[in-house]
Amino acid sequence: VDLPETEAQLVARRQRVLGPAYRLFYQTPVHLVRGEGVWLYDPEGNAYLDTYNNVASVGHCHPHVLAATARQSALLASHTRYLHDTVLSYAERLLSHFPSELCHVMFTCTGSEANDLAIRLARAATGGMGVIVTENAYHGVTAAVAEFSPSLGPGVPLGGHVRTVPAPDARLGDPAATFTAHVQAAIDDLIRHGIKPAVLIVDTIFSSDGVFAAPAGFLQGAVDAIHAAGGLFIADEVQPGFGRTGDAMWGFARHAVLPDMVSLGKPMGNGYPVAGLVLQPHVVKDFGAKARYFNTFGGNAVAAATAMAVLDVVEGEGLQENARKVGAEFATALRGLTDPRLGDLRSAGLFLGLDIVTDGKPDAAMAARIVNGLRDERVLISATGPNGNVLKIRPPLVFGSAHVALFAERLERVLKRL
Ligand code: PMP
Repeated sequence: VDLPETEAQLVARRQRVLGPAYRLFYQTPVHLVRGEGVWLYDPEGNAYLDTYNNVASVGHCHPHVLAATARQSALLASHTRYLHDTVLSYAERLLSHFPSELCHVMFTCTGSEANDLAIRLARAATGGMGVIVTENAYHGVTAAVAEFSPSLGPGVPLGGHVRTVPAPDARLGDPAATFTAHVQAAIDDLIRHGIKPAVLIVDTIFSSDGVFAAPAGFLQGAVDAIHAAGGLFIADEVQPGFGRTGDAMWGFARHAVLPDMVSLGKPMGNGYPVAGLVLQPHVVKDFGAKARYFNTFGGNAVAAATAMAVLDVVEGEGLQENARKVGAEFATALRGLTDPRLGDLRSAGLFLGLDIVTDGKPDAAMAARIVNGLRDERVLISATGPNGNVLKIRPPLVFGSAHVALFAERLERVLKRL
């Protein structure tokens, strides 16, 4: 008889073939074989409530998206060196969600590639090299982008042209004024070292820094500062984009700032690898005259058809509005839990960060126990932030009130048990 592989056998096999650089979530890893809406299933058919996945943003395996992928796959998977309507129609549709100044889009397959391209364009446009990011930012995996992704830890050194600034944490004073001051100090330091500033790039909900969303509007001073220094502002919307924050389609729009470039990824294809960079024409003008850009799979017809279907669902099912409404209910439900280990809650729509504290101090070990305790209750989340003590709650946007109630009930049960 062929016995099913145990999880231990799968772990050993992973290490053997994938090598030592990969990490698994949870003390007891989760083995998944199927997804539907907000639910994920293991081989035994047990259902896990997905409260973390911002890739399957319109719900796992959404039939409208699957049908679009299948339809275009059966027709043609052409790339951007042939004329094809699909990528243009998608580009027009996507750009209709942006301010009119942001009127070009270039396609990639990953968020990392989008940020890598953004940096190349910024260097060409400004003649500068300097990059300013937040202290625990993550922007991607390429060699150039890893150099400004401090959340990768001390094993991945930052570039000499990179300066970090504390994230805009409203608990430490007016985030607008402090963030502007820190960005200005970083600009001054770059210049002092003979490095011309090229960009300020931020994840507009400061996800890996611990989720900093309020008050909306705190980015303007920092954007003005980088512009005054001759640099560009890049909004990394890989996590907050496509309606998640509820107030707006994009995190930068919540803050009412105008980026020079906007990087997109994860939820754009609901699991199909499609990403991109939306930009103002001045950014690419000189680059386009001198260089060419071709990304074999970026913007291929299947990617474009899939991404178009994702927009159909975001718009047609009112998912931004759902994120706003259910996100508010989620925040209220979490605030209703009285356990002393639950600290500050920060959120926008269906993007929530909940501090875990002991005697008011960050408690990463307790956060890990809660994350693992929830996993045992078949509810999936993770923890983030420089201290690893912020519960990161970020479900598919089709999350409903009943799912919020289920989450709160299971979190309460876990807290009681620990
Ligand atoms: N930027 C941010 C803010 C991200 O969270 C990520 C992925 N975690 C990336 C960029 C990189 O995207 P990808 O993994 O698709 O390369």
